[in-house]
Amino acid sequence: MTPYALYLHIPFCRQRCSYCDFNTYTTLNDLQPAYVAALAAEIRQVGALAAAAGEPRPAVRTVFFGGGTPSLLTPAQVGDLLGAARAAFTLDGDAEITMEANPGTVSAEWLAAVRGLGVNRLSFGVQSALPGELALLGRAHDFAAAGEAVDMATAAGFDNLNLDLIYGLPGQSVADWGQTLAAVLSLAESAPAITHISLYCLTIEPGTPMQRWLHNGTILAPDPDTAADQYELAGRELAAAGFGHYEISNWARPGRECRHNVVYWRNEPYLGLGAGAHGLAGGYRYQVVRQPRAYVRRMEERPPTAAATPGRRPPPRRRGGRQRSLAEAAGPGRFPLSAAVAAYHRVDATEAMSDTAITQLRLLDEGLDMAGFATRFGRPFDDVYANEVRQLEEWQLLHRRDGRLLLTERGRFLSNQVFYRFV
Ligand code: SF4
Repeated sequence: MTPYALYLHIPFCRQRCSYCDFNTYTTLNDLQPAYVAALAAEIRQVGALAAAAGEPRPAVRTVFFGGGTPSLLTPAQVGDLLGAARAAFTLDGDAEITMEANPGTVSAEWLAAVRGLGVNRLSFGVQSALPGELALLGRAHDFAAAGEAVDMATAAGFDNLNLDLIYGLPGQSVADWGQTLAAVLSLAESAPAITHISLYCLTIEPGTPMQRWLHNGTILAPDPDTAADQYELAGRELAAAGFGHYEISNWARPGRECRHNVVYWRNEPYLGLGAGAHGLAGGYRYQVVRQPRAYVRRMEERPPTAAATPGRRPPPRRRGGRQRSLAEAAGPGRFPLSAAVAAYHRVDATEAMSDTAITQLRLLDEGLDMAGFATRFGRPFDDVYANEVRQLEEWQLLHRRDGRLLLTERGRFLSNQVFYRFV
């Protein structure tokens, strides 16, 4: 059985960035201890559900603490969560264990402590090197803090660091973006621990301060042509600095691709735990209840032992007048559907084939494994998507190499239009 990637969601931040619509909160600090206890309970429960279903202890090859700002966890809390994961699952000896962190939230002591607990990769949200852009984004740090965080992490023994950057900002010229790239690549030249760079094109999400500023005219809408030029510039600069472009938005030094995210892009199973997390395992896609307080209540109301007997439990008594959803009434109680799962469905072959096409094509060198697809689904890819593939090859958006289907250079810029064909 393919080992799982394990995602743990930590929904706490010190302040809200102006563009952020993630499931994270700045006013729930008091909840953090109870949340960590609930998350540890969910980890144990999912392990127990696998055992109750007669499955071997799930094997896990990567752990990813995402958020939110996981670096707000105390080392003791990180230890509790990793301890629960090691007890519930069989964690690979060389598992990649990543933690997202914000510059300005880490100290030398904290870094040494979490490294000692087994965290071996950090992903720093740097976003920009320019003070005006960091202020626009509502970031709580400057670029100097990013450099200090990298130095402290290196001194603590980390040799595998990712930096996240954002381009396509309102008013950001190609030259502005070039300054951020130059500053980051200069940092990477002096800090070999920086092995990975992720670039995100800003999208202005509903309900964010940035969307309000756009509507009231405080900022101008970003220009997509400028963003395309910025992406092209980044590709050239990162390649020249020795970072390989292995996924549409991700570059890495050889052998330092993010093993956790590659699981998503190969459309392989993963366990997502914690408020609002998504998972794909046991033939289900599922989502955990989104609100952290509701999440904690769910885990407190239904302890692991109660949920470890699939199909034997009556639907839990409800409080108040709200009708329970079908998902709640029918489950959870089967691997991997913990008591905190709010919605789930079985993944049928059509959905699985579509997901596989869309995610594997994101991997620029690896692409879609045609033989692997035929083995997995019992049908050749060329049969399932004959018209789509023929048209996309004619338009020179896809090409073939060594039994794999890949985006062309042109296809990388028009990837959303390619993926749309496989939905
Ligand atoms: S630090 Fe990250 S998760 Fe937190 S508010 Fe900013 S963008 Fe959102």
